Amino acid sequence: MAQATDPSPFRLHAGPGSALGRRALLGGLAALPFAARAAMASAPPVIVATTGMIADTARRLSGAEVTALMGPGIDPHSYRPTRGDILALSRADIILHHGLHLEAQFTGVLADLATKKTVVAVGEAVPEQDLLSDPEYTGRPDPHIWFDPALWRHAAAAIATALDGAGFDTAPGAAALSQDIDALDAYARTALATVPEPARILVTAHDAFAYFGRAHGWQVEGIQGISTESEAGLARISQLVDLLVTRAIPAVFVESSVSDRAMQALIEGAAAQGHSVAIGGELFSDAMGPEGSYEGTWPGMIDHNITTITRALGGTAPERGMAGKLGAAT
Ligand SMILES: [Zn+2]
Repeated sequence: MAQATDPSPFRLHAGPGSALGRRALLGGLAALPFAARAAMASAPPVIVATTGMIADTARRLSGAEVTALMGPGIDPHSYRPTRGDILALSRADIILHHGLHLEAQFTGVLADLATKKTVVAVGEAVPEQDLLSDPEYTGRPDPHIWFDPALWRHAAAAIATALDGAGFDTAPGAAALSQDIDALDAYARTALATVPEPARILVTAHDAFAYFGRAHGWQVEGIQGISTESEAGLARISQLVDLLVTRAIPAVFVESSVSDRAMQALIEGAAAQGHSVAIGGELFSDAMGPEGSYEGTWPGMIDHNITTITRALGGTAPERGMAGKLGAAT
């Protein structure tokens, strides 16, 4: 289990009056008489999130400590809860998960817990008409909404509502997050517009980027489907090799949470037809970057992806991203 150590800059803002500050104070309370302890604020609610993206957003909104069950490199489609995860969930006061069938192996556990405590599927706050569907499973939505900052606003609002209900004041964090979302959206539009039009095709390991494609008018092609559970077929590989060759696409992208085995087959297939394709970089698809790094935050992961995609496909973007923070610790 990956314990979040709080990579967000919010930790710096946690004064003694904040939830985090109160929590730190409580560590020293054991020695106080009961009456004195009772007079102090009670312990803040324990917040547990499934994905890093949700945990980072909840930290930004609450200023509090939030445990993320799925750390860097974890594939949420296939990840099974460990005994430690079950324990963390059973001790939580608020559970924030994505829903939309993303954490497929958590369904039973979360349904059970929802009868006992606050369990919120934050991705399901996106209005139904804004959701894309999974072409492989009728009636199932595409869960990868965090790649469109405008859609992530709905998830953030659902997180804020849950946290407000538990006594947090999310207004300052929400204002800051809203500014981040505006900045990311503006940066994405400016940077991606510099990529020559014929190169605006994103080829990745699995179909995680459909919302990105819709938001920016790009064609997106994943070797695997929406979920990573299915194996990529040979027919799919050869179809994508043809696309790379005929459209002269210079780069494809590996993902931090998915094996790049099939990607190598793609590159070799194109090479056999005389077209050289580079790995344009690693994208953070379903998990964020290392804890404690800028890429280990939701805005950082989006900034990294936009910057990596733009630069690899012939566009112009600053090497260190929209705010010069890529590659730096928070
Ligand atoms: Zn995915």
